[in-house]
Amino acid sequence: MSVVSYFALSLYISALINLSAGYIFILAFHLNSKKRFELARIIAIINLNLYLIVMNYMEGLRAGEYLLYFPYFLVMAMVIDVKRSFAELKFVYLITIVSVLLCLNLSPYENYYQVRIAGMFARLYTSNLAISLTLTTFFSYFIFRVNRDHEEAILKEKHFVDTIYNTSLDGVLIMDAEHRRIIGCNNRACELLHIRQKKEIEGTAIEEWFTSEHIELFKTIEGNLENQRAKDWQGELALTSAERTFFAFVNIVPFRDLEKRFLKISILDISEIKTAQFELMKAKQKAEVASQAKSRFLSNMSHELRTPLNGIIGTSNLLLQENYLPEQKSHLDILKYSSEHMMMLINEILDFGKIEVGKLQLGEHPVDLRKFLEKINLQFAAQAHAKKLGFKMDIDESLDIEVMTDETRLNQVFSNLLANALKFTHYGEITMVAKKIFSTSQKATIQFMVKDTGIGIPANKQQEIFESFTQADVNTTRKYGGTGLGLAITKKLVSLFHGELKLESEEGRGSTFHFTLKLAINENRKQYINEDRVKHLSNFPGVKVMVAEDNAINMSIARRFLMKWGIEVKEAYNGKQAVDLFSQHVFDLVLIDLEMPEMDGITALGEIKKINPAVPAIAFTAAVYDNMRADLLMKGFMEFVPKPFRPEDLHSKISMLLTAKSSTV
Ligand code: ADP
Repeated sequence: MSVVSYFALSLYISALINLSAGYIFILAFHLNSKKRFELARIIAIINLNLYLIVMNYMEGLRAGEYLLYFPYFLVMAMVIDVKRSFAELKFVYLITIVSVLLCLNLSPYENYYQVRIAGMFARLYTSNLAISLTLTTFFSYFIFRVNRDHEEAILKEKHFVDTIYNTSLDGVLIMDAEHRRIIGCNNRACELLHIRQKKEIEGTAIEEWFTSEHIELFKTIEGNLENQRAKDWQGELALTSAERTFFAFVNIVPFRDLEKRFLKISILDISEIKTAQFELMKAKQKAEVASQAKSRFLSNMSHELRTPLNGIIGTSNLLLQENYLPEQKSHLDILKYSSEHMMMLINEILDFGKIEVGKLQLGEHPVDLRKFLEKINLQFAAQAHAKKLGFKMDIDESLDIEVMTDETRLNQVFSNLLANALKFTHYGEITMVAKKIFSTSQKATIQFMVKDTGIGIPANKQQEIFESFTQADVNTTRKYGGTGLGLAITKKLVSLFHGELKLESEEGRGSTFHFTLKLAINENRKQYINEDRVKHLSNFPGVKVMVAEDNAINMSIARRFLMKWGIEVKEAYNGKQAVDLFSQHVFDLVLIDLEMPEMDGITALGEIKKINPAVPAIAFTAAVYDNMRADLLMKGFMEFVPKPFRPEDLHSKISMLLTAKSSTV
């Protein structure tokens, strides 16, 4: 605009200066857009100062070009951010003030070099004043707008921060650490401390709100801030408000602001969680008591049930060995099968209870692994063949080792898995695999597998079946029987051996249960009595055995079997009688019940051993407890036969002890 008016007034030099100043501004603008801010600003400032000096000189002070310094000062304040670069602002003002002084000193009052007519000065002055006023007004308004926008943004931000602060679920207190006063808090803190207005807490001493222990804690945290080792603190504190004491999770953050020290104390009310925790603990204790009562009940009942069952099983065994009418055979078979099945269930429940309360501990005896697996093979191959199923053993050649483990429990694991495989397989075969994966002279890592080609287990049931009383199919019990306890026990047993029972199965294609155990190798492998010889001994002519047993049924069953095997039997019905009887006769072996009136089996054996320390003794017992074998060995027994006894078991134990005795004589 001024370029055009200068041309109109024939002020060509001023017009040219204006144009060249314009070009230099475009250059500064270009540099600014390329993020070379400082250079752009310096060029613009120097350009403006030079422009004003030259213009004032050319036109003379009377033309009023210096009036443009007013908007110019405003532009400087606007362009240079005071906060970010106060030094730059000072520098720019300095240059400008120097250039103002230069300009006023150098410029003549009137310069006729370019302006020839006196009336032109008045016109120039008026137009410069108008331009200066317009620019000043425009920039003032602009500065006002920018400030207002800034202020709005700051207020918005503050409002946002306040909203966050006041809607927080944590009560927040800000403490002036030097004067130990609360200087601020949020709404939640007011709620927690039961005060209506922030004023009631702001400015108060911390002693009004916290106990001396809390204050000690604050001092320590604040002390760390002083030592430049500021550390947050988190923990649970019991706090007291005007109306209640509550549990809070407290977070204390020390910080500095303008060289002053503060603590930010955040309080999260966890009273409800604490109460719930307490209730939960009470409920857990209750549940534990109930569960213990259940286990005790199950265990007591199972023990109680075992005694009458002993009688039933023993009697049915005897009946099957005596003369019966041919049509009675099937009834006797059912009686035998059902009572044995019931005994198995009772044992399962007992085992499960024991495992649940962590009472079941594994024993450790030397076990010949190959022989152990062959025994299992013998047990199950016949059943598989009866069902027209193949039965394969795939045992690593190198497994001819003796390991230290609990044979009975390992047997239980395989028996459960194989019994299931037999139960759920109708075609094909069952395979038992034992593979050595790794071994040292002390330990062998062995993978065991039981594979079948049976009905398989659907993928969505493969987890569940390991839980107690769970079966893959609701019809399982009806079709196959079972309680759903077997796998739960097996899995727990395998974990007692430090293994994990795993399953791979596809519905309709069969299942593979497998687990890997790390077993200690028995380095002092011993020579055992030849089992074959024992097996072939069926009669014991001339052998005299004393049986001490208070239960008439058990006594009668034992007596009948022993006599069948050609043994001469003498009977005692309590411990005392047993000792008397033993002192009067010579016996090759004694069979003693552990629980008898007057004198128990262990004391009786002690007395008997005083008479003949070498006599082999077998404990006859209904109780089964952990480490029983080791315990009985310590007390002088050489073997034990659990009641109800399996005739073959009793026979083989008598046979083994007599053989051992004769080989030592
Ligand atoms: P139970 O055999 O007494 O029912 P288990 O705990 O031994 O209880 O087994 C639970 C369920 O797992 C069985 O009812 C059956 O549905 C499924 N199961 C176990 N073993 C096999 C297998 N080898 N093949 C198919 N299903 C099986």
